[in-house]
Amino acid sequence: MEALRFEQLFARQWRNLAPLDLAPGARFNVISGDNGQGKSNLLEALCYLGSLQSFRGAPAEELVSRDADSAVIAAKVSGPPAPHTLKVRVHRGGKARELALDDKRPRSVATWLGVCPVVLFHPGDLELAQGGPDARRALLDAILSEMDPSYAATLATYGKALRSRNRLLREEMPDRRAITSFDPIVASAGAVLGRAREELVREIAPVTVRVAGEILGGEIPLEVRYVPRVPPSEEAILEALVRSLDKDLARGFTAEGPHADELALEVHARGAKHHASQGQQRTLVLALKVAELEVLAKRIGRVPPLLLDDVSSELDRTRNERFFALLAEMGGQVFLTTTHPELIRLAEGRVDWHVEAGRVT
Ligand code: ATP
Ligand code: MG
Repeated sequence: MEALRFEQLFARQWRNLAPLDLAPGARFNVISGDNGQGKSNLLEALCYLGSLQSFRGAPAEELVSRDADSAVIAAKVSGPPAPHTLKVRVHRGGKARELALDDKRPRSVATWLGVCPVVLFHPGDLELAQGGPDARRALLDAILSEMDPSYAATLATYGKALRSRNRLLREEMPDRRAITSFDPIVASAGAVLGRAREELVREIAPVTVRVAGEILGGEIPLEVRYVPRVPPSEEAILEALVRSLDKDLARGFTAEGPHADELALEVHARGAKHHASQGQQRTLVLALKVAELEVLAKRIGRVPPLLLDDVSSELDRTRNERFFALLAEMGGQVFLTTTHPELIRLAEGRVDWHVEAGRVT
């Protein structure tokens, strides 16, 4: 399968980066440097070009260099069906960002997002293994929204109906008819979400288990499965909503529905949150990302770039080596940051970059 690649990266006034014109390698780009030098900022620029979001959730204000009013990042992206150029200017002070796709304003944000989707791992993703179910549902929603804009629309419909229902549940004199008037839409949108997530998990679970197993070695029983609160059918959700109305009124929120579903990550049949070691948690999350990459590649017919921020800390030497061996087998362009480039055992197709005080050499 052919790969999507960043062929050129350009940045001006982006965070602490000095003016940057970079021609990344087609395979492995190892970005090294001490703490606080700008490695993640570089990765953030690539991620923003692909997704129009900062993976650190930073507002535009933060992205612009402290002594400037606006920042520009741009890239040339190669890969089928055609090469493209992406250019974004973000402003300080609330002015809307400007997008140029092949030097023209894109028809929609969705058009842009389809050009070069990326898969990212960053240390905050450990929340997927260490945190509650919210982060895991959000991951499924993000993957599905990326692959299918109609999923994003259904998710928005569902969220809106749920919030309205919850608001009515908390009123002093709750109006049961008004509350239950939202049930059909919660049930129908909810069934679509639940079914799509279940199907996605059926795809990513075996990949995640295989990849995590390969990195960890040995026979550690791992399981990844979707655990719906209510079976994802319109009838079942509707019935559950009716059944729990009294409880919902007492608690002031809607208990039943896919907003309460769980993506279970288990080690030895127990939740990874409490039962897995830190290295095992990191491995599971990395494996989830590899699975995301594979599923996405299959859907779009091209391998998206993989961005790995500070990926190798907490993994011991052997597990790091197994992970890199796995990366070497996979296709596609990879960017990874590290404070210890000597630990990154990738040989073929490797380009090393060093970042010091925002300068990339
Ligand atoms: P680590 O190894 O600790 O993760 P890093 O190389 O990934 O380090 P970055 O997060 O890329 O570090 O860069 C952080 C540096 O960028 C900090 O010194 C921070 O002060 C600086 N920085 C962040 N935002 C801006 C900005 N808008 N303008 C100027 N400098 C900024
Ligand atoms: Mg960093």
